[in-house]
Amino acid sequence: MSVRVRFAPSPTGALHVGNARTALFNFLFARQSGGTFILRLEDTDRERSTPEAERGILEDLRWLGLEWDEGPERPGKFGPYRQSERLETYRRYAMDLLEKGNAYRCYCTDEELEEKRQRSLAKGIPPMYDGRCRCLKPEEEQTFLRSGRAASVRFRVNARSVEFQDLVKGAMSFDGRKMGDFVILRSDGTASYNFAVVIDDARMEVSHVIRGEDHLANTARQVLLYQVLGFALPQFAHLAMILGPDRTPLSKRHGATAVAHFREAGYLPEGLVNYLALLGWSSEDGQEIFSLEELIKKFSLKRLSRSPAVFDPEKLKWMNRAHLKGIQGEEALDLAIPFLRESGGKLEGLPKSRLVAALEAVWEEVDTLSQIPERLTFLLDEGWNPEPEAQTLAGKEETQRVIQGLKEELLSVEEVTPENYRPLLAGLAKRAGLTGRNLYMPLRAVLTGRTRGPELEKVFLLLGKEKILKRVDSVLQRNRKERSF
Ligand code: GLU
Repeated sequence: MSVRVRFAPSPTGALHVGNARTALFNFLFARQSGGTFILRLEDTDRERSTPEAERGILEDLRWLGLEWDEGPERPGKFGPYRQSERLETYRRYAMDLLEKGNAYRCYCTDEELEEKRQRSLAKGIPPMYDGRCRCLKPEEEQTFLRSGRAASVRFRVNARSVEFQDLVKGAMSFDGRKMGDFVILRSDGTASYNFAVVIDDARMEVSHVIRGEDHLANTARQVLLYQVLGFALPQFAHLAMILGPDRTPLSKRHGATAVAHFREAGYLPEGLVNYLALLGWSSEDGQEIFSLEELIKKFSLKRLSRSPAVFDPEKLKWMNRAHLKGIQGEEALDLAIPFLRESGGKLEGLPKSRLVAALEAVWEEVDTLSQIPERLTFLLDEGWNPEPEAQTLAGKEETQRVIQGLKEELLSVEEVTPENYRPLLAGLAKRAGLTGRNLYMPLRAVLTGRTRGPELEKVFLLLGKEKILKRVDSVLQRNRKERSF
């Protein structure tokens, strides 16, 4: 049997790391087995589903490199791939179950159900449908209908227990008597999640259902539906939870978790994908840094972990850094440009080669692309906007000697080059009467407005003679202003 897996998000908000990991594992499994990766949008909740959320999910999946084979914008022979476009199919199956007596119409109103729920909760009993409409007589149904009540359709749970095998969790067993007859078709004619999913998974010939373990209890209900509908069961693999650093389920409380956030924060899709892959999966040989291609080769359902994974933002940063490492030249430039522009950096007039060299100077120091503009302000800012510590340094008496010496040294060369840099610095040391840190720190403060940054030689070469002279003038001007206050 060929592998067919699906990722089935509800387009009610942004794609978060938990769902992205589910998508990734489905994708990896499909790719390594030459199978099909389906994207299905579970948008039957019309009030909460939005086209923007759908667009966002598609965009995020593509950014991560998880292109689907069948789904929205990729028609296949099992479509449509939006549940809102499949309502007729669900209705047909629900009518069939009604006819066979596996389901019945329920006339309870939302208010009545909510009241009962609250009563159970108050008594400390888990709420469950009490079966009030299970055996209605035709006359009773007529009365309800005449009073204007709309009916939902409930599945009749007769099983005492439900058993299934899970590829991660092993043998699972649920008590059918604690399940309660559940809704398969709501009174507005839309299908419930459990019902739509079973019909879709069966009709789309899904072979493996890989999803979060928060769906385990749903799976028990779904297994019952598979049985009465006469569909073959797929294999199930339920992924262990993702926890925050404090070991509670990962949520907004732990900071931003949307994939879009990580993209905007300058993470590479390769870095994020690599990190997500290790949330609940590990390779046999302990390898940690993977390309997507390597993940496709090495991923295995057998090595999915049963215990929860902890989302560690620091490790994600470290991993992103590892993926940044392999990038250079124009590729680095293409990645950095949007972040440089966004930060308002002036790129005009800077030759490409100089920008590439500038990136090279700071590339190894950053965790994410969004940290680059800040590291390059010394080059991209026209004026001199020092940090307080640098400003203090620049205002010191001995720094005036450094500035003076620097001007004089620069006048003796046409341009700063790798060849004349060392002699130039030696000359400057002599003129200023300073060496080592005492020379480098004020010099760095003057040139960059910072007390840390790329090697001084790189700073000199990147700025070039003209810019350094301009910078020196800005510093002098600023110092003069400070003094006159
Ligand atoms: N729409 C469900 C969710 O987003 C999908 C669950 C499933 O994969 O069956 O949680």
